[in-house]
Amino acid sequence: MTSPTHPANAGDTGGYDPTAVESKWRERWRERGTNTTDLASGERPFYALMMFPYPSAEGLHVGNLFAFTGNDIYGRFHRQQGHTVFEPLGYDAFGIHSENYALKVGVHPMRLIPKNIANFRRQLERAGLMVDWGKSVDTTAPDYYRWTQWVFLQLYKRGLAYKKKAAVNWCPSCKTVLANEQVVGGACERCGTIVEQRLLEQWFFRISDYAERLLHNLDTIDWSDTTKTAQRNWIGRSEGARLRFPVAGASGAGRSTADISDITVFTTRPDTIFGATYMVLAPEHPMVDLLTTDGQRAEVQAYRDRATKQDLVSRKTTKEKTGVFTGSHAINPATGKEVPVWIADYVLMEYGTGAIMAVPGHDERDFDFATVFNLPIVRVVAAPDDTAATPLESAFTDDAAGHLVNSEQFDGLPVAEGKRAVTAWLAERGAGTPVTNYRLHDWCISRQRYWGPPIPIVYCDACGPQPVPEQDLPVVLPDIPDFRPDDSGISPLARHAEWYHVACPQCGAKARRETDVSDTFLDSAWYFLRYPSVGHDDVPFDPAITKKWLPVNSYIGGNEHAVLHLLYSRFITMVLHDMGYLHFEEPFTRFRAHGLIIREGAKMSKSRGNVVNPDAFIDQWGADSFRTYLMFLGPYEEGGDFRDAGIIGVKRFLDRLWLAATLATEEGTPDAAVVRKLHQTIAKVTSDIPKLSYNTAIAAMMEYMNTLRKGERTPHRQEVEPVVQMIAPFAPHVAEELWERFGHTVSVFDSAWPAFDAELAREDSVQLAVQVNGKLRGTLAVARAITQAEALAAALADPAIAKYVTGEVKKVIFVPGRLLNLVV
Ligand SMILES: [Zn+2]
Ligand SMILES: [Zn+2]
Repeated sequence: MTSPTHPANAGDTGGYDPTAVESKWRERWRERGTNTTDLASGERPFYALMMFPYPSAEGLHVGNLFAFTGNDIYGRFHRQQGHTVFEPLGYDAFGIHSENYALKVGVHPMRLIPKNIANFRRQLERAGLMVDWGKSVDTTAPDYYRWTQWVFLQLYKRGLAYKKKAAVNWCPSCKTVLANEQVVGGACERCGTIVEQRLLEQWFFRISDYAERLLHNLDTIDWSDTTKTAQRNWIGRSEGARLRFPVAGASGAGRSTADISDITVFTTRPDTIFGATYMVLAPEHPMVDLLTTDGQRAEVQAYRDRATKQDLVSRKTTKEKTGVFTGSHAINPATGKEVPVWIADYVLMEYGTGAIMAVPGHDERDFDFATVFNLPIVRVVAAPDDTAATPLESAFTDDAAGHLVNSEQFDGLPVAEGKRAVTAWLAERGAGTPVTNYRLHDWCISRQRYWGPPIPIVYCDACGPQPVPEQDLPVVLPDIPDFRPDDSGISPLARHAEWYHVACPQCGAKARRETDVSDTFLDSAWYFLRYPSVGHDDVPFDPAITKKWLPVNSYIGGNEHAVLHLLYSRFITMVLHDMGYLHFEEPFTRFRAHGLIIREGAKMSKSRGNVVNPDAFIDQWGADSFRTYLMFLGPYEEGGDFRDAGIIGVKRFLDRLWLAATLATEEGTPDAAVVRKLHQTIAKVTSDIPKLSYNTAIAAMMEYMNTLRKGERTPHRQEVEPVVQMIAPFAPHVAEELWERFGHTVSVFDSAWPAFDAELAREDSVQLAVQVNGKLRGTLAVARAITQAEALAAALADPAIAKYVTGEVKKVIFVPGRLLNLVV
């Protein structure tokens, strides 16, 4: 039963031939529909989801395969546990990434993407994934994005989609809006161009309405702690107060105070209000014009012009403090004193109210600003041991345990109590209200680009904005040759007249289409709902199938999506739940982030030219060895270092298994010691896989091979068959082949998982720890059933232990199977 060998193959280890075995089983699985999930009637449904890839032109990255293989093992393992497993995969192919690449190589994305997808599909097929390809999605296909547009319309109907003018980061080179996370050191993350600020009309989703629920529900789902923490920080809940500072008399500005309302601020530290010695407004704050006195107007205007040229991130992080006095004052509602009102770029319109009460004594940025502009700095919190309230040399911020000072009737109150007392006092006087604030902003889903689903809205002069009727979806993205964005900040779709002009769905008059397309994060915020319902063309997701298959049982993906993608998916799911479309509000019951792999100690990158090409390794070693090696690199959730030479060890291990299986005999009985090791291995692998501890599971199976073939003994079939079942999730092709050679006619994945027998796994000998006067002096391998007297004799017979027994043994403490302590 030896297989033909190919001496020309550099990966040849004298063992089995992966090329033959793997192509045979790829074909078999296709013929038999092994990987096709019976969605309608399969029992114990288990949805094993992995984050779908962006089909880049470079082809499948080894990082993709690392991620997918980990999910595949988890899915296959559950199938062997008797679940009907659904493991779909698709392509997240819209977005600026593809579009920029298309622009660079001069190929239209509608031609480029299908080619990339075909290449990905070819590579993925070789990887031995248990993917049901009949249920794939491509976000750029009209029969998919029709429903992305439908999702938009549901949010619109619900009042959760709205349009507003907003300051955004604008990359003049990419000619697009960037999220704050895409701006690095003031420059575009993609192209390095210095980012500007622009005011654009944009579509937003009211995700901030869901902040509290998004936060609260985290306690109910089984996600890695790091991911939950990242989401909590992103949502950024803080309790505080909204406070009103009346504007002081006209200050000689020569304008009526009647049109000036109070300046409202949000603060998490209302207890420090007695230390608020000035105020700062964002340069864009709508009150700036009214507050600016004639004498200050030129200087204020110049500063505002400069601020709009800066990107939002640098404004938040810049160390240098700049600002201009408006000429006006406000009244601190606690002290009754007048405080000057300034504008400065370190205050942003997008956070809180766009205005702050500055407390230089207890905020670093305010302290720096006050120092530069010579504004008063007052200490209002003192450290617990600081009874004299010593003057400040820097902002005192580590003050949670402190007490209030210079705060009149509140002096001496601890900070936490002070917050409550001051807020209540200000509320009583009509100067404030307690509020909860969130860092989470509404989700800007508009992109002034071409490569995305058009937002399904029509503008009519008579009727105003109108949603495209659902039966008219999809609004098909037109195939236009000129898809290049320009400086106008208007999507290229506006230049395509036949598409742009359309009849109003309400009155039939001439109207115009919305020309923005939606953010790719919207495509991926609901794709997991579509997979099981692929083929149901009249609905986005079939109610009965959805009820059976969702929420997702297990989701595996990259940590880089720990915040946005996962948060947006949770939000969209909650909205669809609230609208009665879904029976659950959390889409992913369990989420685990996989680690990253490096190569020969270095980060992989195209510029270094050290990216692992999966095709080359699979050609040489086969997919089974490649998969198993990837999983052997380190803990799955941490990743590991890919060393090219390391894969041979894994191939040899599979060769040994192959040899053991082909040599196995049915004569005689299995060896008791081998069976003991086998059951210990079953226990280990069965508990490791659910923990994604794949590397230790593989190590346990390798170790078992040493016991199995010790002294080149001929193994018994019953000693080998369970290993074939256990290696199957890792090395599916070779496992199927060996399983078939054992005479089975059904797939190894439809065989049961090997049963663990604790009695068979029990060791006859145990490690006994020996202590002398409570100090560990050695361990003895002894029979499990050893008596106290026998254990004592064995300990005294060991010179390494006996040398510590310097006198008469006065007392013996014996815990059978564990410990022997001698008191001398
Ligand atoms: Zn750019
Ligand atoms: Zn109309």
